[in-house]
Amino acid sequence: MLLKEIKNIFHAELDVIYGKEEVDSFFYLLIEHYFDLERFILAIQPELVIDKAQEIVIFKALSELKLEKPIQHIMGTAHFMDLDFMVNKHVLIPRPETEELVRWVLDDFKTATNALTILDMGTGSGCIPISLDKNLTDAKVLGLDISTDALKVAEENNRLLNADVKFLHADILSLEKETSTKELNQKFDIVISNPPYVRELEKAEMQSNVIDHEPSLALFVPDEDPLKFYSAVVNYAAEHLNENGCLYLEINQYLGEETKHLLLDSNFKTIELKKDMFGNDRMIKGIKK
Ligand code: GLN
Repeated sequence: MLLKEIKNIFHAELDVIYGKEEVDSFFYLLIEHYFDLERFILAIQPELVIDKAQEIVIFKALSELKLEKPIQHIMGTAHFMDLDFMVNKHVLIPRPETEELVRWVLDDFKTATNALTILDMGTGSGCIPISLDKNLTDAKVLGLDISTDALKVAEENNRLLNADVKFLHADILSLEKETSTKELNQKFDIVISNPPYVRELEKAEMQSNVIDHEPSLALFVPDEDPLKFYSAVVNYAAEHLNENGCLYLEINQYLGEETKHLLLDSNFKTIELKKDMFGNDRMIKGIKK
């Protein structure tokens, strides 16, 4: 079948759900991922034919897109900080906002000459600690998560990407029980976290491909206690950061001031609230007094 015919079928079937531009982008991502074809291929070879086996693969992806399965789950991989991370239904798909958080750390520490110890709390796919480990020359990086299924994905990414992150199974909400875990008793230079922060009341704003396919465990918090993970992370960081150590948090855009107050109440100084590329309050940094 002609590749351009398949592209037309994609538009005919999917434009109503996603819009023309996003369908174009899905189509090109898929032909690159599965067939190693670059996006300008149709400009060079408009009559390019793909074989039967390839047709099966691309039409399977089309039927999954119709069910609003995220493209990253279809391909099994997501691009983050110029690296390809394996993802599945047990982990959050890495978001561009989280890249901005990682870049903030790298901007602050790129020229650091001392060895850094770093902890990522609620690591999911491991995208945060692995990309920090790959981009910092001398860092000892740890990641923890409550989900053993997520930790399997993180470990696999660590292996596939040749990183050297150590992953631990632990619950952010009961770290006081982890006093025997020596890795969690040490002091860190950087603590970072993108914990669950979406309130049930915000579900209405979310797309069904997120609600139906990504892990609720990584996303949602109760309306009446939306900062429960932040209190735990801030308390832990206040105890376990070195003097002048830094805490970096991805946050709920509607709770910037409230999250800032948690840090103010816990011995952090120079607290900075930062917007993401969409203009929403999305990140906070605090320095330990
Ligand atoms: N930013 C993610 C979303 O809106 C949520 C991430 C999180 O809860 N930590 O889907």
